[in-house]
Amino acid sequence: METPKVSRSGLGRLPFSLHSQGVASGVRGGAQGAAAGRPDYDLLVIGGGSGGLACAKEAAQLGKKVAVVDYVEPSPQGTRWGLGGTCVNVGCIPKKLMHHAALLGGMIQDAPYYGWEVPQQVPHDWRKMAEAVQNYVKSLNWGHRVQLQERKVSYFNMKASFVDEHVVRGVAKGGKETLLSAKHIVIATGGRPKYPTHIEGAVEHGITSDDIFWLKESPGKTLVVGASYVALECAGFLTGLGLDTTVMMRSIPLRGFDQQMSALVTDYMASHGTRFLKGCTPLRVKRLPDNQLQVTWKDTASGREDMDTFNTVLWAIGRVPETRNLNLEKAGVNTNPESQKILVDAQEATSVPHIYAIGDTAEGRPELTPTAILAGRLLAQRLCGQSSDLMDYDNVPTTVFTPLEYGCVGLSEEAAVARHGKEHVEVYHAYYKPLEFTVAERDASQCYIKMVCLQKPPKPVLGLHFLGPNAGEVTQGFALGIKCGASYAQVMRTVGIHPTCAEEVTKLRISKRSGLDPTVTGC
Ligand code: FAD
Ligand code: NDP
Repeated sequence: METPKVSRSGLGRLPFSLHSQGVASGVRGGAQGAAAGRPDYDLLVIGGGSGGLACAKEAAQLGKKVAVVDYVEPSPQGTRWGLGGTCVNVGCIPKKLMHHAALLGGMIQDAPYYGWEVPQQVPHDWRKMAEAVQNYVKSLNWGHRVQLQERKVSYFNMKASFVDEHVVRGVAKGGKETLLSAKHIVIATGGRPKYPTHIEGAVEHGITSDDIFWLKESPGKTLVVGASYVALECAGFLTGLGLDTTVMMRSIPLRGFDQQMSALVTDYMASHGTRFLKGCTPLRVKRLPDNQLQVTWKDTASGREDMDTFNTVLWAIGRVPETRNLNLEKAGVNTNPESQKILVDAQEATSVPHIYAIGDTAEGRPELTPTAILAGRLLAQRLCGQSSDLMDYDNVPTTVFTPLEYGCVGLSEEAAVARHGKEHVEVYHAYYKPLEFTVAERDASQCYIKMVCLQKPPKPVLGLHFLGPNAGEVTQGFALGIKCGASYAQVMRTVGIHPTCAEEVTKLRISKRSGLDPTVTGC
């Protein structure tokens, strides 16, 4: 072994070979391993969220000595949570449960049509819902800790930053420092909601998705600023729970998604009680003596200022990666100065070959739990010499859990036309009525499906877009077909399951080009 060079931190630089096995066990959590030129761990994962935990568990399962360092900085409003990252604590899980709570409200409204005798007024108790959701999240926190223990992964509840390219400093809540060294390091620190710090009163008086799921009391009349996934999903469930909800949208809804579908998503929300302030940007937030929040905004087209009062202002204007406090420069890890995300290659490797980045913190990756998880598992398998498979980020399906759910996989119509030219793209579509909507006399104006294909037979499917109940469940199966290169002809030969909404995908006979009425009649 080479003699370790002295680093700026005074610790030995660690000349570990990338693929060497049988690492000597250093003193856990001490600097001894580092000082002696031996790494404490085969793999050190910074961030115990979707990607980090998946990577750590897989590597441990494959026999590696693994540590996870995870620390949650409380939100500016003081909300804190446990192990598991964004998805478990302040993302997918509480969001989907609250979305479900809102859907149940819709079902209560449908119930009398099906013979249920429901009282006219069925109030919703936020406290009760929040407590149940929070208890479930806490059980997941506990479950993650147990799983790490069972796989003998060392867990450090510490905030990590780099000392050099092999050594990480962990700082516990009370300030106690621990140095950890490893042969491979995976950065999976995710991101946090952005605050518009330039807007007066935004930080003092506003909350974000880091707080909404942990509120003990109902947020009441709420202004949601932003118009992407987080904004529309939160506004959707708040409206569904019976709260007066306004979305302030400065430009278009769901940027990056198929815009015809996105407009239908917001049309449905608007017709079910969400108020939209289009083309407006907030100017300031002021707390009034009665504790209400007075928000002043500007209509960008007219230049006019307007104001209203709310109980809660929720900023949902995007997320920033958690890279600023990692001292990445000490390790030589490069970021994109604009996005602050870590630059990675197809192997998920950063500019330093034994340091990797996965999930929301990595540049150019979808900000989704399943992509972070699969990327983490595949990375662990490659690091353990089990496989050379790379994560494939193409045709990643996703669903926006708005009151009418929108599931999609592959290209939007706009992206397909931009890539292949209008004349080479064929779009098949249908407006359909879910059977469940019929008896309850629900309006199905926005229940719409479109399949974007190449025009040349066998018409490979480029994208599928589904707006309707259970869109996530519907889209998941078709995503497999599209991943396997399904063509329009194959989808048309797929036998539907009757009576479902998913079967409508297998019956998309009307092309947009034909100009025929795409409304499905009969079954
Ligand atoms: P995270 O899960 O964010 O984990 C990162 C962890 O690292 C955190 O625990 C963090 O505290 C910790 N950390 C950060 N810095 C340090 C440090 N210096 N030292 C130690 N620890 C540190 N995705 C979906 O697929 N479906 C959904 O329905 C969905 N809904 C969402 C709803 C909301 C409201 C939000 C905000 C996101 C949603 N997402 C959804 C996105 C999904 O939650 C993320 O893509 C996913 O959690 C990213 O995983 P990750 O491992 O990259 O990071
Ligand atoms: P996005 O970055 O996707 O969207 C930000 C939104 O805020 C846009 O509508 C943007 O408008 C608007 N905005 C930005 N800055 C301002 C400002 N200063 N004033 C007013 N509006 C502003 O962020 P999200 O937080 O919604 O989502 C982050 C990621 O989390 C998503 O990309 C997604 O991958 C993941 N996620 C996944 C979910 C799922 O799978 N169901 C659910 C929720 C999140 P404009 O378009 O004009 O820039």
